[in-house]
Amino acid sequence: MKSLLIAVAGFAMMAAAGAHAADKTGFDIAITVDDLPVHGSATPGLSRVDIANNYINALKAHKVPQAYGFVNAVGIQREPGSEEVLKVWRAAGFPLGNHTFTHNNVNSGTPEAFEADIVANEATLQTYMGGNNWHYLRFPFLSAGDAAHHDAVKTWLDAHNYRIADVSAGFDDWAYTDTYNRCLARNDQASIAILKQRYLAGVDAGIVRMKALSQAVYGRMIPQVLLTHIGGFASIMLPEVLNRLDAAGAHYVTLEQAESDPAYAETDPRAGDGSLMERTAYETGKDISKVPAGANSAGIDGMCR
Ligand SMILES: [Zn+2]
Repeated sequence: MKSLLIAVAGFAMMAAAGAHAADKTGFDIAITVDDLPVHGSATPGLSRVDIANNYINALKAHKVPQAYGFVNAVGIQREPGSEEVLKVWRAAGFPLGNHTFTHNNVNSGTPEAFEADIVANEATLQTYMGGNNWHYLRFPFLSAGDAAHHDAVKTWLDAHNYRIADVSAGFDDWAYTDTYNRCLARNDQASIAILKQRYLAGVDAGIVRMKALSQAVYGRMIPQVLLTHIGGFASIMLPEVLNRLDAAGAHYVTLEQAESDPAYAETDPRAGDGSLMERTAYETGKDISKVPAGANSAGIDGMCR
């Protein structure tokens, strides 16, 4: 019986490896999670804390050493009790960073208004992080500001010892959050199956693109920073996402480790805007037109309506 189990397990491992055999180049990657404690609509059958625990369990199972959770404290006002998410995140040993209080786009008001929105979030971070460093900013919508905003905000961040939590890769998980919740509410299992299939196809494409982009722009695999969101759908898909990252050669590191690479030096004129590798390609004139497309979530928002 034991040898049969080993044989079956061995076959499964070979099959999994075969699916990703094209490129086994190892790479460092930090996992980050946005919109704590509340991302998107409610998920039937899963509380906000359940979603956080799904995340934590999957991250621990894959030996991910750290996952920054980026907080919008307005969520605690909107859903009283959701601060429990921040407690379990910290109890798991994971840090919290700043995603602004309200999640407004930096371009929606003056630079001073955006800076005030960062400051408004700090009391919550101080409460849960204590003496640990929480001076990381993830820009809402990955928008670091147009010409009228960027430099003023960047100067403020530097003066207040904030680092930008840049992003190099993502799989459009946010695009599935509310659609999945609607499909689940009406128990539309056929649509849910399509959502899972589409998402995982996007994960596979996203991993291929991530590797190809890094080679095209830097000529090497830079440490990656993955953007995810704390939604019900993302939380139940995370184990399979991590399986696929594992199979692709992922070595999980902290955000500090990833951003110690010169690629994250924040010296470029649009630091923090959009996705790091695409932005750097644009700024350095690198041709990435041959790099395969990544995740594509077009049409997902129209499902289960
Ligand atoms: Zn966000």
